[in-house]
Amino acid sequence: MKIPLLDLNAQNLPLEAELTAAFTRVLRSGIFIMGPEVTAFEKEVAALVGAPHAIGVSSGTDALLLALMALDIGPGDEVLVPTFTFFATAGCVARTGATPVFVDACPVCFNLDTEHAARKITPRTKAIIPVHLFGQSADMDAVTALASAHGLRVIEDGAQSIGARYKGRASGTIGDFGSYSFFPSKNLGGFGDGGMLVTNDDALADRARLLRTHGSRPKYFHSLVGGNFRLDSLQAALLRVKLARYRGYTEARQANAAAYTAALSALPGVVTADPAHCKCVATQDQALAAAGARLILPVAYPHNEHIWNQYTVRAPGPGARDALQAHLQQAGIGCEIYYPRTMDQQDCFRGTPEASRSGCETAHRLATECLSVPIYPELPSDHLRRVVDAIASFLS
Ligand SMILES: *Cc1c(COP(=O)(O)O)cnc(C)c1O
Repeated sequence: MKIPLLDLNAQNLPLEAELTAAFTRVLRSGIFIMGPEVTAFEKEVAALVGAPHAIGVSSGTDALLLALMALDIGPGDEVLVPTFTFFATAGCVARTGATPVFVDACPVCFNLDTEHAARKITPRTKAIIPVHLFGQSADMDAVTALASAHGLRVIEDGAQSIGARYKGRASGTIGDFGSYSFFPSKNLGGFGDGGMLVTNDDALADRARLLRTHGSRPKYFHSLVGGNFRLDSLQAALLRVKLARYRGYTEARQANAAAYTAALSALPGVVTADPAHCKCVATQDQALAAAGARLILPVAYPHNEHIWNQYTVRAPGPGARDALQAHLQQAGIGCEIYYPRTMDQQDCFRGTPEASRSGCETAHRLATECLSVPIYPELPSDHLRRVVDAIASFLS
């Protein structure tokens, strides 16, 4: 029997009656653009994360683009982005005409290395976009300190972290803006594309709302050049059904992560990443070699509430990760490489200045060592056990 990386039907089909009722409600209302479903969903997300403003948008990508536009970032500006992320983080910066400046990754939590970010600041740097990768917050105290020392704007890419917490504060609510994605594979997965932008700032919220609909207020009178970045009424109505159950989804992911860590850490050659090696892959390498480590498990920092969009292990050494992936696939287990190529190595960014691409060696390693295994909330416990057994047989 196959074990998929993600089984959307396991989450969605039990909700069929409620989803159909939500669809019918929108159908009969005749309101398909914005309207009460979008407003209600925005209020509910605002309440979940404790932000005064939540702005429903067409995708997580458009949330980032809209935030950059609202902050007036464009040609001549530089924006710090982690090189180890999904493409949208860097792509949106380039689309505004600004230059993405790539920052190396921490080998423990996979998030941006804020010490490297500090070294890449120039007089043109206008903003930094920390990504809370795999569901765990980046080091927001360090990001905030950098931002206030250098006058940078902060946009949190929370596509993988809606509901995660950093020192008690919701991920996405610490910077000037935070973005979320409702792409089906995200923790709050929708039925197509959708996203949300949150902010604590009244004026920025107003500007983002204006830009979401072509900068038009009143209709047909345009003070800014915006776009169509709206969330569909239907998408909002359907997402509300799942938002009501979101806490349970997160708890199930956290339980799966704990079960993996308990079972896998008992195997010889398996260690859990040690927060003491944050930002320093060289000292981590020494410790791993001393421990004879062949597999490194992910760790949640004690100050973070991790929501486990992915459970990502590392297999160090030439060819080890690819061999592990082949072994799991042979056993019928779905697994995925997030991400096989860092942003500084993408063909489309070859034209960016060398200085913007330099110094991302840790991330290059992660791209060859990381592998994500099934962690979705409904993952049956006997499937989780089979993933553990397959990893055990690989290591033996
Ligand atoms: C998914 C994702 C996005 C983009 O979200 P979409 O809704 O697919 O446009 C942006 N950043 C990160 C880190 C993501 O994982």
